[in-house]
Amino acid sequence: MIVALQPAFKNTRRGTFSRGTVLCPTCKAAIHLRNSEQVDEEFSARCPGCGRRSFHHRRDMTIEQLVDRRKKPRPA
Ligand SMILES: [Zn+2]
Repeated sequence: MIVALQPAFKNTRRGTFSRGTVLCPTCKAAIHLRNSEQVDEEFSARCPGCGRRSFHHRRDMTIEQLVDRRKKPRPA
């Protein structure tokens, strides 16, 4: 009898994504943009701190390369 062992972690393909960060001009809170590669030259973003929309330029954005964690903890 042949037992085929399946690797426990089959899909551990690690991807990276770039996260853009701009600073809110009002309260200086960091606004993170997940799809930073898709934003226009000028874009507006809403601050999670004070809730105001502010306009930013693409060159003012700081890009970070982060490992995409596919397994998100599910809320119970
Ligand atoms: Zn703010």
